[in-house]
Amino acid sequence: LPEPVVEALEPGDVTMMLPYPDRQADKYRRGVLGVLAGSERYPGAAVLAAGGAIHGGAGMVRYAGPGAVADGVLAHWPEIVTGPGVEAVGRVQAWAVGSGLGDGRGADVAAALAAGVPVLADADALAYLPSRLDVPALLTPHAGELARMLGVERADVEARRWHHAREAASRWNATILLKGSTTLVVTPDGEARVNPTGSPALATAGSGDVLAGFAGALLATGLSPLDAGSVAAYIHGMAGQAAASRAGAPSASMVLDALPTVVAAMCS
Ligand code: AMP
Ligand code: MG
Repeated sequence: LPEPVVEALEPGDVTMMLPYPDRQADKYRRGVLGVLAGSERYPGAAVLAAGGAIHGGAGMVRYAGPGAVADGVLAHWPEIVTGPGVEAVGRVQAWAVGSGLGDGRGADVAAALAAGVPVLADADALAYLPSRLDVPALLTPHAGELARMLGVERADVEARRWHHAREAASRWNATILLKGSTTLVVTPDGEARVNPTGSPALATAGSGDVLAGFAGALLATGLSPLDAGSVAAYIHGMAGQAAASRAGAPSASMVLDALPTVVAAMCS
C-alpha cells in the first residue's frame, strides 16, 4: 500500500471536533457508552476504562462484567450502571470492549458487536474480531497487538507502521489507531492522521485502558471513528504531559485525573 497523505492534528481541529455539553444537553444526548472490560485477573482495567469514559465526558456509562469486577468499578465510580453481561446492561450508543478482558470472552465481544452500534475494540478483544466489521469500528492496538492480528512479527510492524495500520484498516473495514511513542489513526479509505501530543510518561500499565474508555465515550457522542480516535489520542497525550509535569513518572490513574482539566481547556 502507498504511504498515506498524513494530516498532523492541530489544537484548533481538536476543539472543533470535541463535543461539549450545550444548554439543552441531557445524559442520553451526551452519549451512553457500554464498557466491556476487565476480568478477575485484570479488574483495574475496567476501572480505568470506565474512568476514561466518565472523565472524558460520557453522559452515562453502563458496565458489563462479572460481579466482583463490577463491584470494584462501582466502588470507584458510583455513577456507573452495571450488569452481568452485554444484554443485561441495556441500550447504549457505543461499546468499548477489550481492555483487560482476558481469555475466553469471545461470546461477550460478539454480543457487543451484534448490538449494531459503533464499537471501540482494544487489547484482548482484538483476538475475537470477525474477519470484517459491519459496524463503525475503532481498533486500538499497540504494535504487538497489531502484529498478532496480522500474523507478522512485531519488528515488521515497528519498521512499517503506516503500512501495517492501513493493511489492517482495509482488512477489517475499521479505523486503526496504532499506539506507541507516536500514535497514528488510519481509516479503511486511507485517510490518515498523526497525533503530535504525548509523553513517555504514558508508557505505563493502564494508560491504554484510559484511552480506550475516552475514545469510546467520543464514539458514543456520535463522532466518527477517525475523529473519536484523533481527539482521544490528542487529549490523552496532553493529559500525559500534564501528569508528567506534576510527577516525573505518573501512574495511569494520574493521567486519568488530569483528563477533565485538559478536556475543559480544549472546549474553551
Ligand atoms: P497500551 O500499549 O495499551 O498500554 O497503551 C499505552 C498508551 O501510552 C498508548 O496511548 C500509547 O500511545 C502511549 N505511549 C506508550 N509509550 C509512549 C511513549 N514512549 N511516548 C508517548 N506515548 C506513549
Ligand atoms: Mg493496552
